[in-house]
Amino acid sequence: QHHPDRSTVWVGPAGHQVPIGPGTFTLIAGPCAVETAEQTIETARMARSAGATILRGGAFKPRTSPYAFQGLGVAGLRILSSAREATGLPIVTEVVDARDVPVVAEHADMLQIGTRNMANFGLLQAVGEAGKPVLFKRGMTATIEEWLMAAEYIAQRGNLDVVLCERGIRTFEPATRNTLDISAVPVVQAASHLPVIVDPSHAAGRRDLVVPLSRAAIAVGADGVIVDVHPDPETALCDGPQALRGVELRELARAVRRLPPMV
Ligand code: PEP
Repeated sequence: QHHPDRSTVWVGPAGHQVPIGPGTFTLIAGPCAVETAEQTIETARMARSAGATILRGGAFKPRTSPYAFQGLGVAGLRILSSAREATGLPIVTEVVDARDVPVVAEHADMLQIGTRNMANFGLLQAVGEAGKPVLFKRGMTATIEEWLMAAEYIAQRGNLDVVLCERGIRTFEPATRNTLDISAVPVVQAASHLPVIVDPSHAAGRRDLVVPLSRAAIAVGADGVIVDVHPDPETALCDGPQALRGVELRELARAVRRLPPMV
């Protein structure tokens, strides 16, 4: 049972906007982290040629360890802008600090709020005022109700262009990094008008599960998926084990294309 007024969120510059919402299935792909201009532009080309319509890439990386690669920051945003110029793909990238919202909004077409910041209400209010659509990930220990209420902090500041993203939750099961709560998709679609997509890469933490979990997302009626891709995952500075290579990305894109039209 879907919410009666499901909305579509449009991402990108006027005239080149990409829809996320009912009746379509949006493939968002790109590197977990922006490492170099070459790696980012090569990945963006792989994404576009496979059929992705939005490029993802982290310039500010919130990592479990403060000693791990933290991203290139503003230099990474500039690389993302050049990848958009090279491919025409709009960009989604994470913002982790309210003070960085203006500079991220200057470069990005969509602002991502990561799992660790789902309940960072000051940050949510700041992105609510930034005038860009928001990709809003579920907190890894948040209930669906807490997630939807947190989305209200963005909406309350006048920004209704919010796409929810189920990215796995903490459970007792260690076989995957998180447990993809696939039932969150129809639960959210019944309770909220907002589009909902799935991140199988961060849910599983394992490349071999990304295509099967994407198929599950398609089957359950998600509005899209966001996946990590890297031209050479073995050398990736961030989350290499979950990054798709070109061949797996094309397999995923074929599964997406075989979709019956959804409403
Ligand atoms: C990401 O998408 O780059 C990311 C860090 O995801 P999450 O916040 O879901 O862990």
